[in-house]
Amino acid sequence: MHEVSVAMAMVDELTRIARENSAEKITLVQLKIGKMSGIVTDSLKFAFDAIKLEHPLLSSAEIVIREIPLVYQCSSCSSTFETEDAFYPVCVQCDSSQLTIISGTEQHIENVEVEV
Ligand SMILES: [Zn+2]
Repeated sequence: MHEVSVAMAMVDELTRIARENSAEKITLVQLKIGKMSGIVTDSLKFAFDAIKLEHPLLSSAEIVIREIPLVYQCSSCSSTFETEDAFYPVCVQCDSSQLTIISGTEQHIENVEVEV
């Protein structure tokens, strides 16, 4: 499961952040996960909740995942729009398929709260 390796990488990063801040404990972790990141947020949370128990620093941390919508910008008319269609999106204004992804591919740690 892809989500397990993502969660493990995030746990490594969180451990590093905690050390840098001489934190005793991480209490809250907010993650930003784009709809197009290929990550199933429920699976990620599940993986995280399982892995964190092996890390005293993280064992009581609350994991909050913010899902970022898929947003495109049209190269023809510059309008931006949100869509669920990740495969064959077209511009809602002009039907162009010349689109650039503005958001929706994120997969990173947005915010961490620690107890020092
Ligand atoms: Zn357009």
